[in-house]
Amino acid sequence: MSAKPWIEVRGIYGGVPETLLVDGSTLADHGLSALWLRSDAITADIVDRVHGQSSRIFAEFNSMHHAAYLAEHPDAAPVGTDGLPCPPPDGWQGICPTHEGYRRSRMAEFERLLAELDIDGIWLDYHHAHASWEQAEPNLPDTCFCNRCLSRFRDETGTDIDPHNLSTEWVTWRCKVFTDWVREYAEIRDRVRPSALLGTFHCPWTGNDRDGALTKKLAIDLRAQAAYVDVFSIMPYHARFGHSDDIGWISRQTEWLRGYLGSDKRIWPIVQLSDWGRTVSAVDVPLILDAATTPPSTGVMVFSWGSLAAQQDKVAALVDFYRHVAKA
Ligand SMILES: [Zn+2]
Repeated sequence: MSAKPWIEVRGIYGGVPETLLVDGSTLADHGLSALWLRSDAITADIVDRVHGQSSRIFAEFNSMHHAAYLAEHPDAAPVGTDGLPCPPPDGWQGICPTHEGYRRSRMAEFERLLAELDIDGIWLDYHHAHASWEQAEPNLPDTCFCNRCLSRFRDETGTDIDPHNLSTEWVTWRCKVFTDWVREYAEIRDRVRPSALLGTFHCPWTGNDRDGALTKKLAIDLRAQAAYVDVFSIMPYHARFGHSDDIGWISRQTEWLRGYLGSDKRIWPIVQLSDWGRTVSAVDVPLILDAATTPPSTGVMVFSWGSLAAQQDKVAALVDFYRHVAKA
């Protein structure tokens, strides 16, 4: 294992690694240079503490999965092909992408976070259609056929094609709706805290995987979003998604993304060290991290501190790898 000078960030997702920060030890002592925390877990004190250790702190922002909103706004629930609210697949509740009140409330929260916290960036999470894709076999219902979405589709495309057969016009229009959210997030960032990076945690499928589900089902047009996103954090959770015996899948998905984007946008994968789906052994940690730091990747973070904190062998392997990669 040797230094990888092209790797600009070595991070942990999901918590402050307190067990490492004892007896005066800093994040940098462990090869770390960044933390990603859920936005509701970040305080000004944590930001100051991380900055005081010469590291960066990034917030994860829940975009289309703020399910609590539905309690008082049932009209924001995604509607299925039968014209009824679509139950959350495996509990993963999404929201109708054209609900204006929901959109305003998310944008206001996004702006508040950037205004109040001196964070180095903000990463969109669950910015896609109502779906459960974080597993080996995804659950991808077709939505949202509410009256609001249907009339906007007709008005904005000038067609009266039945959207239920997932025509190209419908898929393209839906992707544009989701991309326009990203445009507005970027506009807020530019106005409120221009130094902050805008990132996105996104599905690791290629454009052809699962018959084009990335756009057809999830409404994620990564190429269009690249006009606004600074960093793409692809989520190749190999053990969760059925690739435990093929760690090379991680770097293949990253490589595909570079070609697909056709630009030099930064790609910082988030990779799985936690036991989810299948277990991840400490022996595999350097292999996973090596795949995640192979070009075109220029940064990496690991999922997730909450469960890793108690797995000292994996944490030791992570720290060992990060220290070597960081060596000038
Ligand atoms: Zn709708």
